[in-house]
Amino acid sequence: MKTLGNYINCEAVASQSGRSAVVYNPATGEPSMNVSLSSADETRAAIASAEEALQGWSKVSPLNRARVMFKFKTLVEEHADELAAMITAEHGKVFSDAKGELTRGLEVVEFACGIPHLLKGEHSLNVGRGVDSYSKMQPVGVCAGVSPFNFPAMVPMWMFPVAIACGNTFVMKPSEKDPSTTYRLAELLAEAGLPKGVFNIVNGDKEAVDVLLTDERVGAVSFVGSTPIAEYIYQTASAHSKRVQALGGAKNHMVVMPDADPEQVVHSLMGAAYGSAGERCMAISVAVCVGDEVADNLIKRLGEEIAGMRVGPGIGLPEEAHMGPLITKEHAAKVRGYIDSGVEDGAKLVVDGREFVAQGNENGYFVGPTLFDQVGPGMRIYDEEIFGPVLCIVRVDSYADAVKMINAHEYGNGTAIFTRDGDSARQFCEEIQVGMVGVNVPIPVPMAFHSFGGWKRSLFGPLHMHGPDGVRFYTKMKTITARWPTGLRAGAEFSMPTMK
Ligand code: NAD
Repeated sequence: MKTLGNYINCEAVASQSGRSAVVYNPATGEPSMNVSLSSADETRAAIASAEEALQGWSKVSPLNRARVMFKFKTLVEEHADELAAMITAEHGKVFSDAKGELTRGLEVVEFACGIPHLLKGEHSLNVGRGVDSYSKMQPVGVCAGVSPFNFPAMVPMWMFPVAIACGNTFVMKPSEKDPSTTYRLAELLAEAGLPKGVFNIVNGDKEAVDVLLTDERVGAVSFVGSTPIAEYIYQTASAHSKRVQALGGAKNHMVVMPDADPEQVVHSLMGAAYGSAGERCMAISVAVCVGDEVADNLIKRLGEEIAGMRVGPGIGLPEEAHMGPLITKEHAAKVRGYIDSGVEDGAKLVVDGREFVAQGNENGYFVGPTLFDQVGPGMRIYDEEIFGPVLCIVRVDSYADAVKMINAHEYGNGTAIFTRDGDSARQFCEEIQVGMVGVNVPIPVPMAFHSFGGWKRSLFGPLHMHGPDGVRFYTKMKTITARWPTGLRAGAEFSMPTMK
């Protein structure tokens, strides 16, 4: 079986660590290849390559850096089917969803193509008599990225296009569960004309990541993954004086008000809860129904829709499945365990996906769509992130109770309200303690020119990904205050300078 190694200095480099992990096709349960788990020294070699490239790349004009991004965008578009098939083969999500992920990643590349405009900085004339002030946005240096399994193209593309366009060099550590797509993107970057060493890939696990968090040559770390690891990344890298953005897990609630359009709610919820088998950080996993009537009607309609769902391999069926398998056998077992715990904790299991078997793919890691009613705080299926096709219905008496419940949850990534009442929606946007909010939009993922990030334990660090925050994260601001010779005749001034 092939072993995927590292990509350093625009070259494939086999790892000598002697450690590797198996990559599986989750739809069949068959191993497809091995991926190297790099040693600390191999990770240091990738950082050295990025450091060496920094001198040259940071001096390339933003316009020419943008031109590489334009070329890269074209190449990704040309290879979109190949890349999406790779995502489906290793992650399991259906092909059209894999293409959607790629598109959302490409939008960040398009944003990065505008980098000359984004790096213009600020300029004030006459901050004092004859004194001008302006800011420069300079690259941070060598940046590192660590990504999760659930978006092997999009999440790395939240990070490196902006970082590189800002003049940084980069070391990426993809998820060891589905590393091929990120590797292919690195090859396409090289084909687009990116100089050697500007973008490097180290495949591995904690051993490699720990070097990225502690090596003094790394200036910034971007992370996306589960909350315990995000917190560890934030604490460790911050303690080593790096800037960090570490995005963690989620439990996203959708509030359904009595005046919401019932059909719009059902269709939005089906896609948001079961799309990508619930393995999305913006998946809706809890529907908070205001009033029993809303809940009863919704459950009835959801039951009908779930009965019509096609679950199967993400590619190769005459009619595409709505939902594929979960990422690993262990994760599928964990999701089934959550369903067991929901039953034990007293929630009402309306649709049970534990016994689902995909015909012809009996060894795949499938769990069928699952629906619980009468869920609430204190139950593990409510308190914890399941990351599977399990939707929980919570019943509350009022809008105020819904808001109180969401605000009490430890996660604050995304949320949505479905209503026809502008006043409720406006109030919700104002008082909800969540980073990304949808009004009659179930998965409110901000576009590339806005920034993506949650609140509370869904994000550690002040800056979100891509958009204006991405540019701020990957640049150091330097503010220059300049006076030209005539002012020097004035002599020294010993009190705090103020506007005169
Ligand atoms: P994970 O935390 O297990 O792994 C993420 C990355 O961290 C991987 O590259 C992995 O190799 C590395 N890693 C794992 N353990 C480590 C350790 N002990 N030390 C250092 N590095 C380590 O997450 P996952 O299972 O790949 O992804 C799913 C999680 O990601 C979910 O919790 C999901 O909500 C979250 N996620 C969040 C967002 C967001 O925007 N907030 C987006 C996508 C995914």
